[in-house]
Amino acid sequence: MIASVLPTYNRAPLTPVKGEGSWLIEADGRRFLDLGAGIAVNALGHAHPALVQALTDQAQNLWHVSNLYHIPQQQALADKLVDATFADTVFFTNSGTEACELAVKMARKYWYDKDQPEKTDIITFEGSFHGRSSAGIAAAGSEKMTTGFGPLLPGFVHLPWGDHDALTAAITDTVGAILIEPIQGEGGIRPLPDQCLKGLRDLCDEHGILLILDEVQCGVGRTGKLFAHEWAGVSPDIMMVAKGIGGGFPLGAVLATKDAASGMTAGTHGSTYGGNPLGCAVGCAVIDHVADPDFLAEVNRKSALIRQKLEGLVAAHPDVLEEVRGTGLMLGLKCKATNIDLVNAGYDNLVVTVPAADNVIRLLPPLTISDDEIAMALDRLDAAATQVASA
Ligand SMILES: *Cc1c(COP(=O)(O)O)cnc(C)c1O
Repeated sequence: MIASVLPTYNRAPLTPVKGEGSWLIEADGRRFLDLGAGIAVNALGHAHPALVQALTDQAQNLWHVSNLYHIPQQQALADKLVDATFADTVFFTNSGTEACELAVKMARKYWYDKDQPEKTDIITFEGSFHGRSSAGIAAAGSEKMTTGFGPLLPGFVHLPWGDHDALTAAITDTVGAILIEPIQGEGGIRPLPDQCLKGLRDLCDEHGILLILDEVQCGVGRTGKLFAHEWAGVSPDIMMVAKGIGGGFPLGAVLATKDAASGMTAGTHGSTYGGNPLGCAVGCAVIDHVADPDFLAEVNRKSALIRQKLEGLVAAHPDVLEEVRGTGLMLGLKCKATNIDLVNAGYDNLVVTVPAADNVIRLLPPLTISDDEIAMALDRLDAAATQVASA
């Protein structure tokens, strides 16, 4: 016997049938405060009126035409992203892992066209996550994701997190790029300090190699800047985006400089659905909201508020919690108790959080969460921590 849905997930006892802003609602009317936002996807919360409008307006007109033709919504979203970022050009995907596939192909083609085809290696880091495609699991390289799925795509050099000497030693003549998340999400909300990201940029410049950032989870306003690398004041050559950019519609993107993308000429890459009118209409509405400096200022204000309250929560539950991590509304609570127990106690207290590696629970609320909801969230997390402490 096998479940009719391929059983690759251990699902939590939660069946939401409706979403409203920061709330997930079950059929019986139980309302959960959603601090997971579909793993940092529902950036504007559930059923945001502007996104519903963008989607339904587009649905009345045209859903799909394929990339054989011009797509005005795709052009508009690409223009917005180019205007707002380091990038000169954008390719749209349906997911984060497809963005990883293209980032890897783009880096290899770059060196191939520069007559240095030996530079196929990409340096990646322990604890990272780049999705579940063959390139994604090979890039991350963890046993948990790769066991049984060999032979793996070659060309990745896996280094420990935060080991500077290992990094400099690893830069050989076959290395063409470094790929890293500015803040590891699945890895347990592990931020790369700004100096380290600057250092990586310098190292890449010194050796003439490409810096690829995976901002699938930390991008699109999540950290209080449109993209997380902006905090460090440096930019990548190639960037992977997904999750928040579609606000719940499956949408991803690879952003690149014109130099890094120079090998990607007509016929070198493609996608049937990537950049379709529905997804891009929604993506435009998301970016219009999130790229607004006033919106980002609110994310930062709310981040300070929730962080301060979370520090209090950690102090009040020293047997359950250890520390607060993260930036903006991409926050983690490192647990002393087992993180899953706290996530489960959260469900009992009608608050949704997301577990991560390193015994962390993630708080990735909709960026639109209100101050009142933050206060409610803390009360519910407090009740959950009390429940775990007394178990
Ligand atoms: C979620 C995630 C991915 C994979 O995205 P999918 O849409 O699930 O393919 C890649 N990188 C990071 C950092 C992620 O958080």
